[in-house]
Amino acid sequence: MNEDVKNRIEKLKNLINHHRYLYHVLDKEEISESALDSLKKELFDLELKFPQYITSDSPTQRIGGKPLDFFEKVKRNQIMYSFNDAFSREDMDNWEKRNKKLLSDDDYIEYYCEPKLDGLAIELTYENGILVLGSTRGDGRVGENVTQNIKTIESIPLKISFMDKLIVRGEAVINKKEFEGANKERVANGFTPYANPRNLAAGSIRQLDSKITSERKLDADIYSIVTDLGQKTHEEEHSLLKEFGFKTNNKYNKLCKNMDEVFDFYNYWQENRDSLPYEIDGLVVLINNNNIFKKLGTTGKSPRGGIALKFPLKEAVTIIEDIEIQVGRTGAITPVAILKPVTINGAVISRATLHNEKEIERLGLKIGDTAVVGRAGDVIPEVMKVFPELRTGKEKEFVMPKICPSCNCELVKPEQEVVWRCPNNNCFKRKIGWFKHFVSRGAFDIEGVGPKILEKFLEEGLLSLPSDLFTLKEGDILPLERFAEKSAQKIIENIQNKKSIPFSRFIYSLGIRNVGQKTSYDLAKRFNSIEEIKQANVEELEQINDIGPIVAKSIFEWFNDKENNLFLEKLEKEGVVYYKEETIKNIFSDKVFVLTGTMQSLSRELARERIISLGGNVSNSISKNIDYVIVGENPGQKYDKALEIGLKIINENEFIKMINQ
Ligand SMILES: [Zn+2]
Repeated sequence: MNEDVKNRIEKLKNLINHHRYLYHVLDKEEISESALDSLKKELFDLELKFPQYITSDSPTQRIGGKPLDFFEKVKRNQIMYSFNDAFSREDMDNWEKRNKKLLSDDDYIEYYCEPKLDGLAIELTYENGILVLGSTRGDGRVGENVTQNIKTIESIPLKISFMDKLIVRGEAVINKKEFEGANKERVANGFTPYANPRNLAAGSIRQLDSKITSERKLDADIYSIVTDLGQKTHEEEHSLLKEFGFKTNNKYNKLCKNMDEVFDFYNYWQENRDSLPYEIDGLVVLINNNNIFKKLGTTGKSPRGGIALKFPLKEAVTIIEDIEIQVGRTGAITPVAILKPVTINGAVISRATLHNEKEIERLGLKIGDTAVVGRAGDVIPEVMKVFPELRTGKEKEFVMPKICPSCNCELVKPEQEVVWRCPNNNCFKRKIGWFKHFVSRGAFDIEGVGPKILEKFLEEGLLSLPSDLFTLKEGDILPLERFAEKSAQKIIENIQNKKSIPFSRFIYSLGIRNVGQKTSYDLAKRFNSIEEIKQANVEELEQINDIGPIVAKSIFEWFNDKENNLFLEKLEKEGVVYYKEETIKNIFSDKVFVLTGTMQSLSRELARERIISLGGNVSNSISKNIDYVIVGENPGQKYDKALEIGLKIINENEFIKMINQ
């Protein structure tokens, strides 16, 4: 066991060092910052648990990169440290606990918090009020002399009123607008764009021609004083810096009394980061009292008294423990990665889609591999990159099955497609998938009929088509009640209450391949009845917005299938009816909504789903084109902007009323 840990640590160190070298020395990146942070966090946590394996060459013990040879070296008396990362409340509470162990009970801890700019750390030295030296962090002790380049940054004063020797530190940054402009120019000139503003800021400062630096319009935020001027707190340092004439971000910072306040502040910036002209990737949290900060000392590359509290990772590194085969309601066979649970975008996930066989081949993924898992926006997490460097030799090759794991039917795949399918309409797993879809929120929305009870119903042969749900009687369910989320009587009531539903949801419930909520809505808008859709040919269907040839073909084929028509007849026979959603259509159709703040009765995701299912759209940013801004508790900057522009603002109750109309 310990030998495994030691090997893992060794491999992580090599992998991280390789990517850190690319990132810090060559200003290049092959994996995202999130993925690299996640690797570093795993190493940090392992070393915390097994300190006997910490070596001096570990990335947790070393700062930044190596100074490049073509710059003059700058030796420092006071090492320029960098902070360790934290990603969660748990990480922060552990950090606080570790610190408190080293302090006495009367050491009163307050935290000075500042948005963490994504730029390049610099140090400035003034003598007799004149800027005489500007340097990069380098390896902490030895930096690079970039004075000429730093002098081109207009917000850095070349002269200050303070006449003694003064050393300060800060961050050279490039604002989002400049970043976009510079990248556009690069692409136009045939170069690859910079991955992020930090990259561009670093590339601009660490180069030999100051003229190029001056063209890049860099900015600098100064945040600490190295020289001992008798300052007692970090907050005081910020005020002094401002007095001396440095550009500081003091107005964005906050002194927090405890960890709860730190997290309120953190949540605020997570919501409002877009309002800053610069990219930020979290907060820097520092123990405000300089004496306590010093008393805590340093560990490896970092002072114990400060930490970088990063925003949730959009990507993280974890282990692929297994690959399972999922059979969807349309028969699509999807390999799913079973993950060692990991937090992405603030939520713990344990499964990620691998899409299809080709994708596993492209990734070169084996079972047991360490991989980057990411989630773009609200979509399902997926595996993005594999680290073969971290293999132990115990990984297993994955073999795509040729028969359906549910019904043993031979799987089929048309030549030009990548997805294998189970062709058997009576396949158990496909059926389950269809039933789950049928009772889901966007379809018949039948509460209390969970996957477990559906599986039981199908196994016992009580149901064969979703229309059979409407024939169920209390006594049918009673023997299965222990599988149910609700009482048998309640379930029957729920089912019977849903015999009449809006037309778009009726269409969606049919489970037609490639037909989601939006397409269902478009169909319900264009046609008055199922009969009308049946009579439409592929060309007519294609004329509906967003419906392309593939979707049109799916729809046409579904309605021309004999079994499907029998199913529609059965639904009708059981008394299921749909109605045109005229009133709702008028309120929501083609309207654009923005959500801000926390809602009490439904999650943001659910609200978004509802809006889209009713034909509306949801945007992430405020503009003149927004029709409604839905405001929950503690709304962010979006609310202020909406007021400024004079947009229509509604609260949660008003929104719920709209949905229920
Ligand atoms: Zn099957």
